[in-house]
Amino acid sequence: MKTAEIKRRYLAHFEANGHTVVPSAPLPAIEDPNLLFINAGMVQFVPYFLGQQTPAFSRAVSVQKCLRTPDIDEVGKTSRHGTFFQMNGNFSFGDYFKEGAINLAWELSTKSVADGGFGLDPSRIWPTVYLDDDEAFELWRRIGVPVEHIVRRGKKDNYWSMGIPGPAGPCSELFYDRGPEYGKDGGPEADEDRFMEYWNLVFMQYEITNVTSKEDFTIVGPLPKQNIDTGMGLERIASILQGVDNLYEIDEVRPILARAAEMTGKKYGVHSGHVAGESHPDDVRLRVIADHVRTALMLIGDGVVPANDGRGYVLRRIMRRAIRAMRLLGWQEAALPELLPIARDCMAPSYPELAKEFGRISTYAYAEEDAFLATLRSGTTILDTAITETKSSGGRQLSGSQAFKLHDTYGFPIDLTLEIAQEQGLEVDQTGFRRLMADQKNAAKADAKARKTGHADLSAYRSALDAGGAVEFTGYQEVTRESR
Ligand code: ATP
Ligand code: MG
Ligand code: MG
Ligand code: MG
Repeated sequence: MKTAEIKRRYLAHFEANGHTVVPSAPLPAIEDPNLLFINAGMVQFVPYFLGQQTPAFSRAVSVQKCLRTPDIDEVGKTSRHGTFFQMNGNFSFGDYFKEGAINLAWELSTKSVADGGFGLDPSRIWPTVYLDDDEAFELWRRIGVPVEHIVRRGKKDNYWSMGIPGPAGPCSELFYDRGPEYGKDGGPEADEDRFMEYWNLVFMQYEITNVTSKEDFTIVGPLPKQNIDTGMGLERIASILQGVDNLYEIDEVRPILARAAEMTGKKYGVHSGHVAGESHPDDVRLRVIADHVRTALMLIGDGVVPANDGRGYVLRRIMRRAIRAMRLLGWQEAALPELLPIARDCMAPSYPELAKEFGRISTYAYAEEDAFLATLRSGTTILDTAITETKSSGGRQLSGSQAFKLHDTYGFPIDLTLEIAQEQGLEVDQTGFRRLMADQKNAAKADAKARKTGHADLSAYRSALDAGGAVEFTGYQEVTRESR
């Protein structure tokens, strides 16, 4: 079943059950100063859950575009973590509660494909419940789940809160057993790759206070209204329904991976079995490329542009990781002109604006890649020399001043220096690096002050310097000007 069809069925199921379809919010979380990107379907509904606003509906359904940068190191290494992903979600604002949420989730999961459901084999579904949530346990038992498949778990896994005083509650998660070729038997406690979490049902039920961590808080009492917030990973259910090993192999992602493999002459997936954690490094790189190229497309599509801080920096890092992974697979040239149009073709059926906006999106993306390749060309030689020198003198660490020089003179980003050094078994004196950065910042401040007090304006020299050396990325600024 195609991902777009899974999305359609999800919306249709809940719409038929009285839910109002609400469009995805854009990825940048502009309403929330504490959050760079939307990371769950419930984010746009927070004011409703907190009772600050009253929705025009008591049931909603959405497919929310999400970004989780904390998951970036998992990408390609587990079967189930993307940076960008889509979260199907149904929500009840003081309407149905545990029983409604559990019944609706079970029905869609197990209803036959011919009848509009996902047709999952009920005997492969393992629900988890919070330790003392006997009510949820009983609901799952009554629906027909054998008690050995209903797992009680503690706060870390089965208690939801925003990590601050406010609404919270136990949750119940649905895991799908992908079978012995994916790992150990024994339920989600034994193996979260074989038993893959695909749906989280949150029962927003209590108000909590004295929150010191996700696991340490005091329950004030029940909320005036009981709410439901659920999240089903669209890519995860797609990987299950498409019978592929991981979410980089579903219809919306695999073509990017396949093209990257073709370009670099790599044979994907021939080295190992079904378990993502045991994959050949080249396979992991191909997955990272596929994931990151798609994420870059979605981010630029939603108006993020490469920059040195904030959201733009997240985008820049993600793009650089993809470009670096291509280089590690032996591809030295620009790769995005090949890969980005494929990502567009994968995603445009669900997001037609990507096709319309592709001129703008690709202009930013290609300029960013060109600038980064230029930086890599000038910095890599210097870094390689530094690494060889350090190693031959028996050192284990690149100095702060080496890292700083790479950054300052060659525009070589510190995260890249760290990554390459690590690949070579070396550390980097980060404290020394940060001290030099701080010194430079202070000097720049003093300089700006001097300028304001009547000295010559030096900014023109600075931009000439930037244009001449392979310093930071002026490429995209050029683009900005042109496309305005
Ligand atoms: P996991 O334990 O596998 O990291 P999670 O418990 O962090 O998942 P939730 O916060 O419960 O995930 O999010 C709801 C649903 O969104 C999950 O059940 C899963 O299907 C999906 N999901 C979460 N993180 C990702 C991700 N990085 N990529 C793809 N899907 C995800
Ligand atoms: Mg997670
Ligand atoms: Mg989890
Ligand atoms: Mg979860």
